[in-house]
Amino acid sequence: MKRICVFCGSNQGARPEYCRAAIEFAEELAARRIGLVYGGASVGLMGIIAEKMLSCGGEVIGVIPNMLVEREAAHHKLTELHQVNSMHERKALMAELSDGFATLPGGFGTLEEFTEVVSWRLLGIHQKPCGLLNVGGYFDQLLQFLDYAVAQQFIKPAHRADIVVDPNPTRLIERLQQDFAGSNGAWQARKEQT
Ligand code: AMP
Repeated sequence: MKRICVFCGSNQGARPEYCRAAIEFAEELAARRIGLVYGGASVGLMGIIAEKMLSCGGEVIGVIPNMLVEREAAHHKLTELHQVNSMHERKALMAELSDGFATLPGGFGTLEEFTEVVSWRLLGIHQKPCGLLNVGGYFDQLLQFLDYAVAQQFIKPAHRADIVVDPNPTRLIERLQQDFAGSNGAWQARKEQT
């Protein structure tokens, strides 16, 4: 995997373990020479993960819409900062630049990004792995809801099982790499041959 796209909060959250997990995630990405693609902001968990990656000498690509740059939330010391015209353009570019997705704790923006990449995967628009870093059980209720949606036959069990969930940053990255090497690697190779 060359790059992982991270979705995470524009706030730091109530518990210090969220920040610690973002820092650990960045250290692990940098150690494995995997680049970070993210929302381009300097605030919240986004700012923390970007800062840590940069201080470890890692590649950081931010993709931010003009309207958010104007609110001065953009991080201006990244390896690359792409300014785009809309939130839609931004998500499309973030997806294109990445080999997989990891969702860390966050709010509505994070949840929307997570559900979009998961639904694109089950529609076959991409085959990139989608992971959830369930640090401190932050996503427990969301996972319970997904199980309920499976029981109510709105989500297929295979699609629910497809989401890589782990509370540990190192293990989550390892599992995303394994998934990428298995399914997506073969898919990409087939795509390049046709
Ligand atoms: P939230 O979870 O609601 O805090 O939103 C964070 C997610 O939405 C991130 O993964 C970003 O991609 C996007 N986002 C929200 N606010 C900003 C911001 N000020 N600058 C850049 N991206 C943002």
